[in-house]
Amino acid sequence: MMAFIQALTVGVDIGGTKVAAGVVDPEGNILERVRRDTPSTSPQATEDTIADVVAELRSRYEVTAVGIGAAGWIDVTGASVLFSPHLAWRHEPLRDAVRRRVRLPVIIENDANAAAWAEWRFGAGQGESHLVCVTLGTGIGGAVVTDGVMLRGKYGVAGEFGHMTIVPGGHRCECGNRGCWEQYASGNSLVREARELAASGSPVAQNLLDRVGGDPLRITGPSVTEAAKDGDPVAVELLEEVGRWLGVGLANLAAAFDPGTFVVGGGVSEAGDLFLAPARDTFKRSLTGRGFRPEAQIQRAALGNEAGLVGAADLARENIRLFRRRRRRRRPASERLRERVDRLADI
Ligand SMILES: [Zn+2]
Repeated sequence: MMAFIQALTVGVDIGGTKVAAGVVDPEGNILERVRRDTPSTSPQATEDTIADVVAELRSRYEVTAVGIGAAGWIDVTGASVLFSPHLAWRHEPLRDAVRRRVRLPVIIENDANAAAWAEWRFGAGQGESHLVCVTLGTGIGGAVVTDGVMLRGKYGVAGEFGHMTIVPGGHRCECGNRGCWEQYASGNSLVREARELAASGSPVAQNLLDRVGGDPLRITGPSVTEAAKDGDPVAVELLEEVGRWLGVGLANLAAAFDPGTFVVGGGVSEAGDLFLAPARDTFKRSLTGRGFRPEAQIQRAALGNEAGLVGAADLARENIRLFRRRRRRRRPASERLRERVDRLADI
């Protein structure tokens, strides 16, 4: 019983508007959840919120570690957030700051990496030795898990697939470049295209507009998906277009990483085959060496928007396991010498 209790960890997902935290068991089940608004004003306020949710969950569960997932670049040592797009973190030494507050081992992880880890451990990527995950939301988050190891790159910022140039000279991106993949295959790009079409006054977008009371700015990703599911041809077309761009980018990733499975998550993936069928079709037609190589599967993510929380918690558990294993291997020299002397004494 004690072993089970010790295996519980807390996962914290820091989003742009909400902090979601949960107690997660070794099978990836969330035993309890708490939510708070994200205070974006100062790093200190965000740390307070993290310490607060952890304290609340610890009052009811025995937990051994905390994993924090956040959008942004985490340095390769896992100690600092180099940059976070919607928080005040700039070279923020978050890990040690939170560790001092909660007095437990703490890890921090990029949110897309955390979600990919969860899908590999418990979701659509289970059993896959070569997995690439993409999460489509405001932008595109990416991660690669190979034989249970997360690809982090030398500086910790690998997997930023959303900023691969896919259309030279194309749409301007927040990163400063033009034509990035996330300008064509993210949830935001779907909404941008739908709003642009509706604002043009084209009669083909009338049904989409009627659904949101006639205001193009009220069109959202879910409203397009809903219209497509009801058979609206323009909504179907908009999802197909985003799906095709997804397929082009995945073919590029297959050329680089040769995975067995792609797992696609995020809001747009809720459209299911309306979106993934055109992605698979374009992927097949764009794949380098097509016809002469096995093709990766393209699967929808299984864990929804709690994947980041579950993955961060599981990575915190994994970190403790690795730490213990290393500690067992690296006994002090004095201890090893004493053992050798004892053995000689026996002879
Ligand atoms: Zn970009």
